Amino acid sequence: KKNDVKGFFIRNAFVILTMAAVIIGIILGFALRPYKMSYRDMKFFSFPGELLMRMLQMLVLPLLVSSLITGMAALDSRASGKMGIRAVIYYTTTTVIAVFIGIVMVLIIHPGKGSKTEFAKKPPIEQVSAADAFLDLIRNMFPPNLVEACTKQFKTQYGKRIVHVTVTVNDSIFTLNGSSQQITQEEMIPMPGSVNGINALGLVVFSMCFGLIIGKMKEQGQPLRDFFDSLNEAIMRLVAVIMWYAPVGILFLIAGKIVEMDDISTMGGQLGMYTVTVISGLLIHAIFVLPTLYFIITRKNPFGFIAGLLQALITALGTSSSSATLPITFKCLEENNKLDKRVTRFVLPVGATINMDGTALYEALAAIFIAQVNDYSLNFGQILTISITATAASIGAAGIPQAGLVTMMIVLTSVGLPTDDISLIIAVDWFLDRLRTTTNVLGDSIGAGIVEHLSRHELRKKDPEVGNSVVVE
Ligand code: ASP
Repeated sequence: KKNDVKGFFIRNAFVILTMAAVIIGIILGFALRPYKMSYRDMKFFSFPGELLMRMLQMLVLPLLVSSLITGMAALDSRASGKMGIRAVIYYTTTTVIAVFIGIVMVLIIHPGKGSKTEFAKKPPIEQVSAADAFLDLIRNMFPPNLVEACTKQFKTQYGKRIVHVTVTVNDSIFTLNGSSQQITQEEMIPMPGSVNGINALGLVVFSMCFGLIIGKMKEQGQPLRDFFDSLNEAIMRLVAVIMWYAPVGILFLIAGKIVEMDDISTMGGQLGMYTVTVISGLLIHAIFVLPTLYFIITRKNPFGFIAGLLQALITALGTSSSSATLPITFKCLEENNKLDKRVTRFVLPVGATINMDGTALYEALAAIFIAQVNDYSLNFGQILTISITATAASIGAAGIPQAGLVTMMIVLTSVGLPTDDISLIIAVDWFLDRLRTTTNVLGDSIGAGIVEHLSRHELRKKDPEVGNSVVVE
């Protein structure tokens, strides 16, 4: 009996420590709030959390590349084609459902009721066209310089606010995660490491093509397959080391954010209702829709599956970045949930980059909220436009903190809403971002589970050409 208890704690040490970190982080955060730390002290206080972000992000790039390349190389083209189609159908279906939930919730609850007097009026800013945004999305798929384009992250002044942007094409054009605008070199402020991200979309496209090619290369491709396979294994072992540090990092990330957040008492009225609406929508999607879908398709217990994922979900909550969480998501799915590595390697990096249910739900909901606040009534066509652009914006959003807030510009411009009104919801975004990131990670993981189940027949067959190079435990 005693051994059982001990065994339980040892087996679940990571999850227990991580949960404890969240709780202690919240308590510590609220306890320290009254002391009103200076900016300098805040920086020291947040330092352990910043380190966790940096460590995770350090691994994302090699992990994403090596897992996709080995994943693609291990599958014959027919199997990867079928798996790819299944994944795309899953991503599309769940994103559309998420957008639908967002729209229904915001129309029913109507959080923007009342006038805009609660918010100070802001001058409108320059509009960006949806066509530009679309071109930028495609551009991002083909980074001209793999190393440079995937690391250059800047923030810039957007109105009075600092936003995170990814530089693409060249130094004078940056992507507001979708929209091209000219800015000068002086306006660019290098990003601090804690919010550093990568142009994952470009990497995903490159790695998938590269993996497919070396998978077809017979003996000539063997050294490359071995190299990336071994790289992938080494990175996963590094992830295991970092996981010991994760609880400390998460504790300080959460405590730091609570110390620094705006006064909650100002959150009454429309903004409070808006927050409740977003949370309810995300909960319906995460606790009801996704598990039901998983159960209907696999006939397995979805909550057992989610329990195996807890550490990844908490890391998403702590880091608000699905790409930083990716290493942990891999670990949870492969080790706790025992998913086939050929599936996770293929599906997870793509999912973390383009499949963002939480972000899609949020963008549609927030856009309609801004319309409500402005007393701007939307017709059916406009709501449809919002749902399409919200889907596109969620695909274009990078898996970094608050990326969704920036891609919302595309959604707002598509129906002529003032983009400057993003500032109305900025005060609560740090919090909602964490919840939508958690939903994003859950969506990707359940997707991997469903794709594995649907592909079980193809997976049973071993590819005679490359089957031996990638050993599937
Ligand atoms: N932070 C989210 C993520 O990493 C993206 C968003 O801002 O919605 O998944």
